[in-house]
Amino acid sequence: MNSNSGSVTSLDLVRIWDQTCLKKHKCKIEQSVLPTRVIDVGPRDGSQVPFLHVTKGEMSHWISLSHCWGKRPIAKTELANFESMCRGITLQRLPKTFQDSVILTRQLGIRYLWIDSICIIQDSPADWETEAAKMADIYKKAYLTVVAASAKDSGWTPQYGQRISTIVDTRAWCLQEEALSPRLLKYNRTHMSWHCSDWADIHEDGRQKYHYDNWYRIPATLELADDGKRRHIWHMILTNYTKRHMTFGKDKLPALAGVATEFHQRTGDEYLAGMWRSQLPLGLMWRTRLYDHGLYDADEVPQHERSAKYRAPSWSWACVDGPMDFSICTSDLPYDSETSITILNFSITTKSTGPFGEVLAGSLSVRGKLKVAECGNDIIPPRGKWGEDAYYTKEIIDPSSSLVDSRAVGQCLFDLAAEKPASQSRLWCLQISALRGLVLMPNGEGSSEFRRVGLFRLTDHGAWFEGCSMLDITIL
Ligand SMILES: [Zn+2]
Repeated sequence: MNSNSGSVTSLDLVRIWDQTCLKKHKCKIEQSVLPTRVIDVGPRDGSQVPFLHVTKGEMSHWISLSHCWGKRPIAKTELANFESMCRGITLQRLPKTFQDSVILTRQLGIRYLWIDSICIIQDSPADWETEAAKMADIYKKAYLTVVAASAKDSGWTPQYGQRISTIVDTRAWCLQEEALSPRLLKYNRTHMSWHCSDWADIHEDGRQKYHYDNWYRIPATLELADDGKRRHIWHMILTNYTKRHMTFGKDKLPALAGVATEFHQRTGDEYLAGMWRSQLPLGLMWRTRLYDHGLYDADEVPQHERSAKYRAPSWSWACVDGPMDFSICTSDLPYDSETSITILNFSITTKSTGPFGEVLAGSLSVRGKLKVAECGNDIIPPRGKWGEDAYYTKEIIDPSSSLVDSRAVGQCLFDLAAEKPASQSRLWCLQISALRGLVLMPNGEGSSEFRRVGLFRLTDHGAWFEGCSMLDITIL
């Protein structure tokens, strides 16, 4: 909390926002069954030392904290200090963010506070797995979520002059913490703001900023959305999510599980490693190259990396780290809406944590038109629509003799520049929409199993695939 936000007037203002929101908006917050463990902050006068309380199914309100784990050691509960945390937590030993949250919780007359590092036993993988699965609910049912948005190392000290808006905005887990919380109090670098279903982004001076970031306030947004809108919202979430920093790659899908659950509850749609059945096949057309490289300085153009450990099938965006462009997936352009493949089957094996958690294996069987092309060497001029490392491909007229037409049939955009096959390598092009599709490589000579390596776009209005017969293939 900065000196302004921590002053009496700031706390008074938060109390006013809280009461106005509860009394005048449709923002009623019911009591819920408390999370497994919470911090009991004691009465409002601060006469009691906070302690870790193991709950027994009692109903109450709690405040949750959404914060960034900095590089400094953070106050946390582990097996060794669990008993001692239950006896009492010395306020002065907590990071400033946590101290401020305790004070704020007391001031709002709420008894319990939930902070991940204190309420989950950090050196118990079993506990982490159980509690992480409940995390979405902990934010969704919280009386209020306090977002320490500029806390690089768990203090609300403002940090001026940073290019990136706020640290929390860059942390992957925070997307769903914010998206699911019905009411948010955000401490930004320079100000605090309140977000709920009636107030989009109200600031200390009373001004309401109609900030576009309210679109991902699930579930309120989803209630109003039809199928087309939901598809759009999902891809906007992914666009935002894939820009964020993830400390542990294995969390890529789990940190989005709460939001995915919200979608599933409203649509009944099947979830395939970060994608929805109803949004296929166009949903396969994510890309790692962004339309507008001009958004970044030359040295800041994001680098993409394929996860070293298996995380998702090659046709899911979740197997690559880095910002993604989903504009084609959401495209309503007529030449994209006509798709030429049929999804025959799919299978996703997830860890015990449920259908939205970690993925162990996945495959997708499709029937479609597949043609072989040769990887060209001519790079599209930089800053072209397809980014700087799109390559022309040439048709292999007869794969058995490697006779190559001199004419380029389209452009290839590889998911990772480092994975571009050598010039004159063969590429398998699977048509998805009239002009576009996936670039695949077989898993071994003559195999009907393939993996995705990129996208292509035809330059001949789709004539290349005319007369091509249908093939059944599996993409892993
Ligand atoms: Zn409200």
